[in-house]
Order: sequence, then C-alpha cells, then structure tokens
Amino acid sequence: MKDKILRHPCLPARFSGNDALFDRLSAVAECLIEANRKFNLTAITDPDEIVSKHIVDSLIAADLVAEAAEDRPSSLIDIGSGAGFPSLPIAAALPHLNVTALDSTAKKCTYMNETAKSASIPHFRAISGRAEDLAVQKTHRDAYDFATARAVANLPVLLELCLPFVKVGGIFFALKGKNAPEEIKASKNALSKLGAKLEKTDEYRIPGDDSPRYLLTIRKISPTPAGFPRHYSQISKKPL
Ligand code: SAH
Repeated sequence: MKDKILRHPCLPARFSGNDALFDRLSAVAECLIEANRKFNLTAITDPDEIVSKHIVDSLIAADLVAEAAEDRPSSLIDIGSGAGFPSLPIAAALPHLNVTALDSTAKKCTYMNETAKSASIPHFRAISGRAEDLAVQKTHRDAYDFATARAVANLPVLLELCLPFVKVGGIFFALKGKNAPEEIKASKNALSKLGAKLEKTDEYRIPGDDSPRYLLTIRKISPTPAGFPRHYSQISKKPL
C-alpha cells in the first residue's frame, strides 16, 4: 500500500520522500479497507482506486492548502467528511494544521477518530452534526482559516453550508467533479450574497478516471450576513 502511494504519478512534489507521511497514509488506506469489510463506508473498495481517488486526490488538495498556509499554524474544517476525505490525508500531510472533520453521521465520525488514532494523526478531531446547525454556533462561525468539501452538494448549496465557518480573509477549497464549470456559472449570486470570490480554478486528472476534476479556491472577503445558512429545506429548495 505504501509503495502504491509513494510511487503514484500524481503525488504532489512537496510530499515526495516524506517516509513518515506514507506510513500514516497507508494506515489510513488499510483502516478503510478493513472497515469496508464490516460495513458499507465508501463505494470505492479496490486498493488502487482507494489510493488514487481518496488518498492522492486529497493530497492534491493538501498541496494547495500547504501553499496558502505556508508554515503558519492554522485551522481547517472539512464539511461532510464521510470516511475522512480529504480531511485525514490533509491532517496526515500538514502537522501544523488543526483539522476538524464534520459529518452528520455519528458512525462515520467514530470511524474517523479511530482511524486518526491508529494512523498517528494527533491534531485531528471528527465531530458529528449538520453543517447548517454548527455554522450558527459562536465557536464555529467565522472561526477557521480554511474549509474543504468534496462530494457533498452542488456549489450554490455548498457555499452556503461552508463559507460561514471560514474567517474573513480565509479560503474555502471546493473539490469538484466534471460539472464544476456549470456549477460555477450557477453560483454568481451565492458568491456575492455570501461575500466571497472565486480566485482560482485548477483542473486536474487522476488515472482511472476519464473525467476532469477541479479544485476551486474561494476567498471569503466579508462576514457571512446574519440569517445564513438557512434551514436545510430552504437551502436545497431555493439555492441562492
Ligand atoms: N467527503 C467525503 C464524503 C462524501 S459523501 C468524500 O468525498 O469521500 C457526503 C457526506 O456528507 C456524507 O457522509 C454525509 O453524511 C455528509 N453530509 C451531507 N450533508 C451534510 C450536512 N449538511 N452537514 C454535515 N454533513 C453532511
């Protein structure tokens, strides 16, 4: 498993040669394979696909986070983290980052906390709850330098769920699939209402997947107005 990760053609250069990191990442991959035998945690179960689509895809996001954080101690929240992607590989790769993984399913949070422990990733915690509920709490609102999310919702919905957690001046990194260009077009109003701007769109590809992937760098430029996020029924029925 370790070999598959360290020899992967898409591994960002800044992580090559970091042997301790590859140990932590292979532990994350092994935990996922083991857990998938017991319960249905992720759709992907093949080891090569786990390395490409979960571990390396998350490291490509970690590379952008590292560039933005430089070496400053910072905080990051991953919304709808599921089995810990991209949050567990990001935490494994960036020890100066305090990482919070949020998911509405308690069982997934228990799994993530246990995995972080067995993979020796200490500055990681998974908490269960709904993003729209936690985002109005003082301890979470405008509180994180960075947010990430992958495969949670369409961009207009996702912006309302994630931007409230980010500090003014901080960045939300959205990991998106092939529909990103259309989702971006549909998000103009949400970006302006929520006080954010799309700074950069990086397109990339992963072996074994024919479709392009996108990493969006979205900067929060003003505080999230009161009243956002709305109740989930409103957010999904009437996206901004
Ligand atoms: N990010 C992971 C999981 C994607 S599946 C990956 O890319 O592999 C989406 C996850 O988001 C699910 O685990 C679901 O429980 C969680 N989720 C969906 N809506 C949510 C919300 N409003 N608040 C918190 N978690 C949510």
